[in-house]
Amino acid sequence: MVKITGYETHDVRFPTSLTGDGTDAMNTDCDYSSAYVVLKTESDLVGYGMTFTIGRGNDIVCSAIKEVANRLVGKDTEVLFADMGKTWDFMMADPQLRWIGPEKGVIHIASGAVNNALWDLYARSRKKPLWKLVVDFTPEELVRSAAFRYISDAVTKEEALAMLKEKEAGKKEREEKVRELGYPAYVTSAGWLGYTDEKVARLTKEAVQAGFNHFKMKVGADQADDLRRGKLIRSIIDDPQYLPPGLKPRDPDSEELKGKNAGPTGAVLMIDANQVWDVQQAIDYVKGLEEIKPWFIEEPTAPDDILGHAAVRKALKPHGIGVATGEHAHNRMTFKQLLQAEAIDVVQIDSCRLAGVSEVLSVLLMAAKFGVPVCPHAGGVGLCEYVIHLSLIDYIAVSGTMERNVLEFVDHLHEHFVTPCSINSRGRYNVPTNPNEGYSIEMHKSSIAEYEWPDGTYWQSKKGV
Ligand SMILES: [Mg+2]
Repeated sequence: MVKITGYETHDVRFPTSLTGDGTDAMNTDCDYSSAYVVLKTESDLVGYGMTFTIGRGNDIVCSAIKEVANRLVGKDTEVLFADMGKTWDFMMADPQLRWIGPEKGVIHIASGAVNNALWDLYARSRKKPLWKLVVDFTPEELVRSAAFRYISDAVTKEEALAMLKEKEAGKKEREEKVRELGYPAYVTSAGWLGYTDEKVARLTKEAVQAGFNHFKMKVGADQADDLRRGKLIRSIIDDPQYLPPGLKPRDPDSEELKGKNAGPTGAVLMIDANQVWDVQQAIDYVKGLEEIKPWFIEEPTAPDDILGHAAVRKALKPHGIGVATGEHAHNRMTFKQLLQAEAIDVVQIDSCRLAGVSEVLSVLLMAAKFGVPVCPHAGGVGLCEYVIHLSLIDYIAVSGTMERNVLEFVDHLHEHFVTPCSINSRGRYNVPTNPNEGYSIEMHKSSIAEYEWPDGTYWQSKKGV
């Protein structure tokens, strides 16, 4: 019996606003930040978790994390691990904390940090990376681990069980395949709004060289600028001369690229507006970008506006452009409604806006039921480290498909993690294999000492500058 004895939190902020990394039409001044938590036990076993913010307010999230983590202190880890769905319900059920949600906002992302830390602890205790812990579950164990409250009108436990059982036979083969090939990724870091055309062109060429064939560009500040930048990116990704030596163009009509508006080399462009428009504005603006052939417009409008997304999707369908959202979808009920209203073509789960692995599992099950691909949101700090685990769970145990899906990759800030994610020469994520890495989110102590707000050495050195 090992009890949880306590926790520590760290407000860690990186000065990314100095370089324009992470800039989009809505978020113009981001200091990528981690509200970080360490769960401690009676033994050497420790669990790491975090949620992501973009700067100010990260301290508020850390305060909320303390409130949520308090609920786990004194609990026996094996009792918590034995029924992670029930544990999740317990974590959400504080009658007073619930009032400042429920299941949304600061308290929910704080719950995400703590739930992820608990899953990390669980995986480390079994000497498996998180994804491997979950794909080795029986279908019954996986369903028992998901957050099921309020979604049974979209998928019942029995239906989930039947879907997972159907996928059981191919699990081993899929695991072997993805270990060998890696998981498909797409690149966002070429197209931030804060970058010059020269920088966009250079980064796009580098990304093509690195083996990527899905590229995302930020839009929404100025339509003429977006069209110009989009044409610039397309002129590079559609031109076979930029492909790495020996790599042939992909077939735009192949199964994996069907419906993605792929260009002649099989390259796919996505665009992301980060919620700047009203519904009609979104429709008009994106129609004006038809020429650059996007696969989807991401976050065209307010993240809570399910029917708004449905209207945008309906209007853009004749133009061959889809709709994606989810990085600000604050809980599984939002995803449920987006799916029920046929409002999206792609589910973009966020590993720590949803309240941890248990709630992510419930969204993966719903997406599989509705047949909608899951392309998790990443970037920020720590998100790429997290999401490779989630996409592996989705592919191996839940949906059984990865070729239509792609996982966001942004090459920022990985050096701060003890077991950083990595990309292979085909532009795909490598599979995490270290038995001691859990959910891969442990940060170097030196990074925390440098960037902890406001007393870390970096921030102290900037005082009064
Ligand atoms: Mg986005």
